[in-house]
Amino acid sequence: AELDVEELEGIGKVTGQKLKERGYYTVRDLAFASVKEIADIIGNEERAAQIIEAARSMLGLSSFISALDVYRKRVNIKRISTGVRSLDELLNGGVETGAVTEVAGEFGAGKTQFCHQLAVMVQLPEDRGGLNAKAIYIDTENTFRPERITQMARARGLDPDQALKNIYYARAYSSDHQMILVEQARRIIKQDNVKLLVVDSIVAHFRAEFPGRENLAERQQKLNKHIADLLKIADAYDVAVVVTNQVMAQPDVFFGNPLRPAGGNVLAHGATYRIWLRKSKENIRIAKIFDSPYHPEREATFKITEEGLTD
Ligand code: ADP
Ligand code: MG
Repeated sequence: AELDVEELEGIGKVTGQKLKERGYYTVRDLAFASVKEIADIIGNEERAAQIIEAARSMLGLSSFISALDVYRKRVNIKRISTGVRSLDELLNGGVETGAVTEVAGEFGAGKTQFCHQLAVMVQLPEDRGGLNAKAIYIDTENTFRPERITQMARARGLDPDQALKNIYYARAYSSDHQMILVEQARRIIKQDNVKLLVVDSIVAHFRAEFPGRENLAERQQKLNKHIADLLKIADAYDVAVVVTNQVMAQPDVFFGNPLRPAGGNVLAHGATYRIWLRKSKENIRIAKIFDSPYHPEREATFKITEEGLTD
């Protein structure tokens, strides 16, 4: 079980209560917090730093470990199968928990279908590629379709109603709302068996609300915070976070691919894995992984059918 914040030396009832009111319930929450966040709550930066350090050391997170320990931890990482053999091979078994995976592509490339499929796949038992867990789906473009979940669930032998019940859904109406929903998602994840958090799309509201170069700095700063929140959730609770991203034409590229994912460097550095989807003939799609710390740049093809994503 998770240790309550008040188990930490030096945190009494009053401070403990203040922290909980702002969503920090456990020692783990504190270990992954930033000094600024905690200082905002308790009003003292030095003490905030001490609390975070104490939380990290209590959980054994504060110092160097051997690369063998890192390796053992990675071997134990769980993955959600995409349900498509070629895609799973591309991803060494599926979408990783504890990481943020970005799915980028043009309109109609299949980003939303990919997210729907994962929301179903995560529910399957482990021997069938799932994690026997629930999903949270934050929808910013109003493209979530429960009917689609029903179809995909049936194709995988799941009860369609049960599959729908296992997905927490929220529509985000603005970038601020989107960020509040991520905080609410964190609370749900602490209480329920959620292993997938989808944000489809991560950038749409930010781009609409902060248009043009004059707003770029503010937009990137906000987006940076949003992505940091998502990375923390992935890391702290071993959840697979999947975000979708639009691609934009880059006017200054004359050779090679003129398209690139929106969101700029913040997303490039924030996401652990990046998948690029593009359209081929009819219902065929091509996925490529790029900027990965350990995957080679390979491609895989798949189809979008009534049953969902298939080989
Ligand atoms: P993106 O989110 O990248 O804009 P989507 O994930 O919405 O794209 O993918 C849209 C594609 O999925 C379209 O080509 C559409 O034909 C296909 N699609 C959606 N629903 C179905 C279905 N029930 N059967 C087959 N294909 C579908
Ligand atoms: Mg979409």
